[in-house]
Amino acid sequence: MPSTGLAYDTAIPEAYSPLVAQQKKIILLKPRGFCAGVVRAIDVVRIALDLYGAPIYVRKEIVHNRHVVDELRRAGAIFVEELGEVPEGARVIFSAHGVSPAVRAEAKERRLQVIDATCPLVTKVHLEAVRFAKQGYTIILIGHRDHDEVIGTLGEAPESTILVSDVPDVDRLEIKDPERMVYLTQTTLSLDETSEIVTRLLERFPKIQGPKTQDICYATENRQLAVKAVAPLCQALLVVGSQNSSNSRRLVEVCQKAGVPAYLLDDCSEVQPGMLADVDTVAVTAGASAPEHLVQELIDHLRSHGYNDLEEAEIKEEDVRFTLPSDLETFTPRLHIVRA
Ligand code: SF4
Repeated sequence: MPSTGLAYDTAIPEAYSPLVAQQKKIILLKPRGFCAGVVRAIDVVRIALDLYGAPIYVRKEIVHNRHVVDELRRAGAIFVEELGEVPEGARVIFSAHGVSPAVRAEAKERRLQVIDATCPLVTKVHLEAVRFAKQGYTIILIGHRDHDEVIGTLGEAPESTILVSDVPDVDRLEIKDPERMVYLTQTTLSLDETSEIVTRLLERFPKIQGPKTQDICYATENRQLAVKAVAPLCQALLVVGSQNSSNSRRLVEVCQKAGVPAYLLDDCSEVQPGMLADVDTVAVTAGASAPEHLVQELIDHLRSHGYNDLEEAEIKEEDVRFTLPSDLETFTPRLHIVRA
């Protein structure tokens, strides 16, 4: 099997070694929860509300988390699906998942005042798509159809880009010039599944190139590696995150693939007794868009059900920060205001 040559081929960390459990126990994974792109996007909305006052329009969910969106809505943000719902000339924020050039053009046409909260790691993929399309490459974009991020990236070079979501999609590809191909990926995919798809691409199209550094982001990678390391030590994993959060869903899948039941919960009210039946050790993590207070509420809930032993398993240190968009940069001192 050819090597994909990418970071997701690296060995997973050794299984975390816990203390011997005397009673029912929680292993709390780290890193978990908010990534730098989510912190930045939420800060953008809060700062815009502080600076300009409500209402501030936001195209699509700023990040894929119900609690975050509800809280910002209460603070005065108005979430819309499309720019047609924004009054001409009003201020609008683009979400962390990015937009296509067509959306930018529409905003310009309608004289909207745009603040762009696209995660810089999504922008990286957009720029790669533009560059490779200009150089005449066929771009194979690995990702989930209908995800906001994929729609935005596809829009950068629609004539040059083909979306694949799994290995059978790769098997169906018919390419005019297999000498000039490149693959890019959505930022929040499963490392293992992506590796399988890239391997198949390399088997079928040995000349295909990849991005210089992998497109799957550090936050997605680290959270999956933590789940892999701890899965052998628990009988169930609870993932705090919303159903439409791609990176959260991947955490559930990674754990299930390791043979351990895993559940995605918006908050502790969704814990069902069956999830914890015969579970002495439960692991807890959170997707990149899930606020920490929901994790702590889940811990409290588990404690009230006899999980009194708590250990934090830090698999990898994470200290990434992104600067604000240039139009809000002067408000950098407020960068750490996220309370969601
Ligand atoms: S999950 Fe990754 S790509 Fe998405 S906002 Fe966070 S850092 Fe950016």
